[in-house]
Amino acid sequence: MSDETIFSQILRKEIPCDEIYADKQCLAFRDIQPQAPIHILLIPRKAIRNLNTAKQEDTQLLGHLLLVSAKIAQQQGLSSWRTVINNGAEAGQTVFHLHIHIIGGRTLNWPPG
Ligand code: AMP
Repeated sequence: MSDETIFSQILRKEIPCDEIYADKQCLAFRDIQPQAPIHILLIPRKAIRNLNTAKQEDTQLLGHLLLVSAKIAQQQGLSSWRTVINNGAEAGQTVFHLHIHIIGGRTLNWPPG
């Protein structure tokens, strides 16, 4: 199965994004269809399809992504915010390159849909 997605093109700078944060392991940018005043996507540079295909060797990377998501939320001035990782089409995943949604800036309901 191909690892190629729209996020691969964003990582290669073939299509633009509204970049928020970048380091050697990951890139964060604003979601093109925001569901809240702040809606940022954080993606690893490594093409991992979703958590179902993540491996033991990705342990450091996955931890890094969570810590970076907190750093980004704080930089955005959020004290309450949510991370969402959709895994699989029935869970709402539409882009098959692992990504963390960082969502905030309004009251968030629970349970999610
Ligand atoms: P998911 O449904 O969890 O796979 O999330 C994919 C997200 O990627 C959606 O929230 C889309 O709005 C977002 N998205 C798709 N294409 C782009 C793009 N070119 N730039 C920024 N966000 C995008």
